[in-house]
Amino acid sequence: MSVSLGLPRVRRAGPAPSGAPDGAGLMDRHGRRATDLRLSVIDKCNLRCTYCMPADGLPWLPAAQLMSPAEITRIVGVGVERLGITELRLTGGEPLVRPDLEQIIAGVRAAHPGLPISLTTNGIGLTARAGGLAAAGLDRINVSLDSLDAQTFRTLARRDRLGEVLAGAEAAAAAGLVPVKINAVLMRGVNDHEAPHLLGWALERGFALRFIEQMPLDADHGWTREEMVTATEIRHRLSSAYQLTPHPGARDGAPAQLWDVRPAGAGAAVVGTVGIIASVTEPFCSECKRTRITAEGRIRSCLFSHQEEDLLELLRAGATDAELAQRWQAAMWAKPAAHGMDHPGLDSTDYIQPQRSMSAIGG
Ligand code: SAM
Ligand code: SF4
Repeated sequence: MSVSLGLPRVRRAGPAPSGAPDGAGLMDRHGRRATDLRLSVIDKCNLRCTYCMPADGLPWLPAAQLMSPAEITRIVGVGVERLGITELRLTGGEPLVRPDLEQIIAGVRAAHPGLPISLTTNGIGLTARAGGLAAAGLDRINVSLDSLDAQTFRTLARRDRLGEVLAGAEAAAAAGLVPVKINAVLMRGVNDHEAPHLLGWALERGFALRFIEQMPLDADHGWTREEMVTATEIRHRLSSAYQLTPHPGARDGAPAQLWDVRPAGAGAAVVGTVGIIASVTEPFCSECKRTRITAEGRIRSCLFSHQEEDLLELLRAGATDAELAQRWQAAMWAKPAAHGMDHPGLDSTDYIQPQRSMSAIGG
């Protein structure tokens, strides 16, 4: 059975109203400027992580509704040349499900030789493709991995594919897509006990591990504030094997708070860092630099938006780059100040879960 998510409000026609001052790039009314573009290349995925997808998947977008490589290059070009985008991350769904991912990257790379391009992936298929992705111009990779135990992985991802993910992460490193970052979501009673083991595994390989607090973006709407594993609990879990001290240096809008890691025990030296992304309990909305494009070319100013602007429809209707830029600016000008889920007990907040799940937005 497929679950229909409905669609957020989409603005389709006519010039979008914007109060954004000319030449300000992707500024919003709260004074933030988006320079970091997260672009989803596909909504489809080959895993069914419980915190993201329903067991039976979702109704996938038809291929004709996905942005083509040329359309992606054009949209990224508008972002970089007219709106001050300085960083691109490709995501999904699962980006490696697209057979033309290398072509997408090569197109953007040819147009923007200096643009940092990274990819977030579940790692399945990377062993065969990491070299080609690097050759196409990809700089860095994040591999999502929540468990090192085959049974726990199967419980969380609803697929028996741990070996492929582990091999994929190693292949990314061998292809020079470094530093390889590992994203892990901890679920209470499922894999939260694995935090120190995951960190040890990552440190041994020189991978940069980041724990992400589970956000209420699952298609099953099963998230509860009480059940989610908080950043404080993650640090507590890690303290059984490691000492954590704040990593020196400015955070500069980065979602992950970095901690220096020492093995537990007096006098140990720093052996690496770990990141914790506390989107729920320690939100960083006031520092947010992100703008998002969904796989069907809609602008979302925030992961938690309830409104989207259809950029691809405008592009396909023959809009100029200036018109595309204007629509993008208008969408970002309306970016909400904050997601409103940073209080215990969601009934005491103004938070309403978006209709799209994480995979359909592009995480
Ligand atoms: N399929 C790719 C992957 O898993 O890396 C890319 C898309 S996935 C939506 C991007 C990231 O979002 C993954 O690291 C995943 O763990 C994270 N994610 C998905 N649902 C989440 C949720 N409800 N809360 C926090 N992180 C989530
Ligand atoms: Fe797929 Fe990534 Fe969502 Fe897991 S987190 S179901 S791999 S899109």
